[in-house]
Amino acid sequence: MLPEWIQEEIIKLEYPTIEERMGLAIQLAQRNVEENTGGPFGACIFEKNTGILVSVGVNVVVKQNCSLAHAEAIAIMVAQQVCRTYDLSANRLPDMELVTSAQPCIQCFGNIWWSGIKSVVVGATGEDVEEITGFREGPVPICWEDIFNNRYPLYPIFVTKNILRKQACRVLNYYKQNNGLIYNAGSDKR
Ligand SMILES: [Zn+2]
Repeated sequence: MLPEWIQEEIIKLEYPTIEERMGLAIQLAQRNVEENTGGPFGACIFEKNTGILVSVGVNVVVKQNCSLAHAEAIAIMVAQQVCRTYDLSANRLPDMELVTSAQPCIQCFGNIWWSGIKSVVVGATGEDVEEITGFREGPVPICWEDIFNNRYPLYPIFVTKNILRKQACRVLNYYKQNNGLIYNAGSDKR
């Protein structure tokens, strides 16, 4: 599922600060474009308190012939395999944090909802994604972070936005400049 180069980008196992965590997600997104292995999106899951890396994901929609294969979804799938559970909020596990180079789309909004992730950190905004690349985010609720925050009786999912946003946008611009494919279904019919 993950590209072969991915291992080369994972040079350490602990990422204490939020900027280091986002730095890795952006680096994966950039390499994904450079290697022509997918869209300009990267995501990582960390143990929230320690910063220990649990899993990574990049967008591999085109390579895998799979519209589900967004970076966040891949990171969630890998983390659940590594942790041997469909529920990353299981009592035996530490709190998990998803760090994604760009705001989750409608599909990833739902994926995160059911994943067991306890917090989400975002680089580029949904507007950045749509305006710079031409990708569509789908009908994500306007106050999506408030909806994550208020899931009573489920635990809240805390959202932090605009971390290294400029660097994240640089990858989106790089993809655009390289005529990156817009693989949203139906986009070749408009
Ligand atoms: Zn998505």
